[in-house]
Amino acid sequence: MNFEKFALHEKIFAGVRSQGYTTPTPIQLQAIPPIMEGRDVMGIAQTGTGKTAAFVLPILQRLMQGPQRNVRALIIAPTRELCQQTHEVIGQLGRRTQLRSASIYGGVSIRGQIKKLNDHVDIISACPGRLLDHLDRGTADLSHIEVLVLDEADHMFDMGFLPDIRRIVKSLPAKRQTLLFSATMPSDVQHLANDLLHNPLEIRIGRSAPVETVSHRFYPVQMDTKTDLLKDLLDHTERESVLVFTRTKSRAKSVAGRLDKSGYKVISLHGNLTQQKRQKALAGFRDGRYEIMVATDIAARGIDVTNISHVINYDMPETTDAYTHRIGRTGRASKTGEAFTFVTNQDAGLAHSLKRSLGDKVAYHSVDGLTIAVPADPASRPGRKHSVTGVKTHNGNGRSFSPKGHGNKSSKQRSFKPAGHRSWS
Ligand code: AMP
Repeated sequence: MNFEKFALHEKIFAGVRSQGYTTPTPIQLQAIPPIMEGRDVMGIAQTGTGKTAAFVLPILQRLMQGPQRNVRALIIAPTRELCQQTHEVIGQLGRRTQLRSASIYGGVSIRGQIKKLNDHVDIISACPGRLLDHLDRGTADLSHIEVLVLDEADHMFDMGFLPDIRRIVKSLPAKRQTLLFSATMPSDVQHLANDLLHNPLEIRIGRSAPVETVSHRFYPVQMDTKTDLLKDLLDHTERESVLVFTRTKSRAKSVAGRLDKSGYKVISLHGNLTQQKRQKALAGFRDGRYEIMVATDIAARGIDVTNISHVINYDMPETTDAYTHRIGRTGRASKTGEAFTFVTNQDAGLAHSLKRSLGDKVAYHSVDGLTIAVPADPASRPGRKHSVTGVKTHNGNGRSFSPKGHGNKSSKQRSFKPAGHRSWS
């Protein structure tokens, strides 16, 4: 199957070709035809599946027909980065069309946005807060919207945006096409979908677990050894771009600072940065000036960098859904990726439930002198001794695992082959 089958307008097809897309991804295969027919669609798909083009292409196709005077399509997304990225995808795929899009989000001057909206704009890619601001000022007219897209709806729910979305929807014509994309389906998102979508076609791509192209390693570790372990992994892993997640903004900054001092090309991305600095950091990470980015969850939403070979959870995410989102940053568009997660004893509960959901895809690994024993599953019966079975060695050196401080060589003394660490399944 190729893109010709969708019978896209020649100018849109030229945009597809310019991006080098030859084969539609599964979500594109399943979603593009019904969206082109005008149906409401609920897509349960993770990031990295090609979902942006799955809704952008039919929108461009629709807007090529009819008057090009008003804003006719609205895409709402949780973060500035995602809004900006979608705006850029529209620009790339629609480059040969006359259609114009605007990205609307906070943290930048509203004046430029008002000016743009006064010009001719066909598509808006917006974050809820700034869009409401424009609606309150009367500087955005959504009365001609034909298509509404709610992207990463579960994350908009996490960020408390659902009331804003309901307010925005009141400014839209009741007769419209509505598309909702979400990696997971919490009940509040399901309720929103029930209220806003009419007889939607439900498309599920993969299960609600991290993308198949990613392998997962857990490293049991103590808090104070995390940075040494991080450096060790960076030094002994064959890698392209690496995205490191921390739980807090201050830790993103401090971990990046420590790596920088050790000579790594690193940048941090977190909510305390100005929009300009965020854009600069992202651009530098995308073009390879920085090989490592240390980010918080919110800041990293919507990052589309195809050559991220590794996601490292310096701090464990708080939920399995958050894990899914983080891991979605690697293994994009069928590339393979690896996810390394540092697990402290406090993280044992979530680590074990992730392990149950991911099964064989997860293996615990050790690094001499830097990791500790695998934490016991708090859900297992009290008094039952935790045991780890099926020890595998990657480099076949037969070394057995010994916890930190038991006479191992220091990390500097150890000689490693790439991925020469040991694992348990
Ligand atoms: P998304 O899930 O929309 O964020 O897309 C993830 C990545 O896949 C982006 O870098 C897209 O450029 C890329 N992509 C989307 N569709 C295709 C396709 N049909 N063939 C190859 N790459 C694609």
